[in-house]
Amino acid sequence: MLTFNYKCSLCDTRYEISPELMLCPDCEASQEIGQPLNGVLEVELNGNPDSNDPLDLLPVERKYFPDIPVGNTPLWSPERLLGKHGFPELFLKDDGLNPTGSFKDRASFLVAAFARKHDINEVVVASTGNAGSSMAGVGAAAGLKVKLFLPKTAPPAKMIQSLQYGADLVLAEKNYDHAFSLSLQYSKIRGGMNRNTAYNPMTIEGKKTVSIEIFNQLGKAPDHVFVSAGDGVILSGLYKGFRDLHQLKQIPGIPVIHAIQASGSNAICRAMDSGVYDLQNAQTVADSISVDTPSNGLLAVKNLKAYGGHCLTVTDEEILSAQKELSSDCGLFAEPAAATAYAGFLKQKPFLESSASCVVLLTGNGLKDINSASKNVVTPDKAINSLDELT
Ligand SMILES: *Cc1c(COP(=O)(O)O)cnc(C)c1O
Repeated sequence: MLTFNYKCSLCDTRYEISPELMLCPDCEASQEIGQPLNGVLEVELNGNPDSNDPLDLLPVERKYFPDIPVGNTPLWSPERLLGKHGFPELFLKDDGLNPTGSFKDRASFLVAAFARKHDINEVVVASTGNAGSSMAGVGAAAGLKVKLFLPKTAPPAKMIQSLQYGADLVLAEKNYDHAFSLSLQYSKIRGGMNRNTAYNPMTIEGKKTVSIEIFNQLGKAPDHVFVSAGDGVILSGLYKGFRDLHQLKQIPGIPVIHAIQASGSNAICRAMDSGVYDLQNAQTVADSISVDTPSNGLLAVKNLKAYGGHCLTVTDEEILSAQKELSSDCGLFAEPAAATAYAGFLKQKPFLESSASCVVLLTGNGLKDINSASKNVVTPDKAINSLDELT
């Protein structure tokens, strides 16, 4: 049996878990504008789980989870990639195969269960697109109302998907950071539980299930994990899962995690070097990781520094070329923010032992953003009537 409590990632104060508590109140009081969230809470576990099933390591009982099949995504080694790179233990974890097409379902799943446990029927969320469409879809399965704030520039597929699931969609005039602040005001004034990434502690906790799955699938922790980073919450979830497994004495240490950012949206990488978050207008083809101020920036840097992780950047050209390579080499069509992790592997490869076990986490499906995917392919410019017209 496990018991759970919150612990502030900044000052280590412990709190009882409650749906009203989102950030550590003491740390939140010193929040500065334009800076990552102060006082992000993590779930702490105590005791021993009944099994290694990720659901047995989460702070909400099984009966509250909706029946939509989140997680248990494939971990596989495409033969053609192995032949090409000479890494016999290179694995792709395809989280684009989640029900709404992105990794975000892991967080939405736990948030939905948490809401049901506490009789909350409306969830409010800001998103670049995937967290919103995920909450909309998983929320639909759970019978929750979803109020969604997206930047007006979000890819159309992510908007339409959210509307199909029945979400109430509000477009923010400026960017994702603007949608984030509007949604926080909305949930404070009008109510509903806010699911914003990092702000709601269940988002980090839900995302840890990927590490537990990787461990169960491989039978060990890998040496390296490659993950793309925008707000730095998937990164923190990955660390949380491996830290829990380490606390439970299932793994001897924490893998080296490589956080990959787009060069036009690289706040975490810059803060790793400088120690501070300065403002930048993010610009990248990988919309899901286009973030001015990473909401979980403080914990991202803390984890990377504590466990020997790296942050590196790749250009938009490298992202699009990695996307094309994944699609055409192994039939895995990933959205740009997901292919970013693979672009990071390609860049780090010369510095890795080829015998190392490496997992590349692919976080979203390519169909979510056809505009970006179209930049690296040539569509036929005319239709034909007969085969005589073919050259
Ligand atoms: C959200 C997202 C990311 C980045 O996750 P963060 O927690 O913001 O760092 C990466 N890839 C995809 C496809 C995403 O939707």
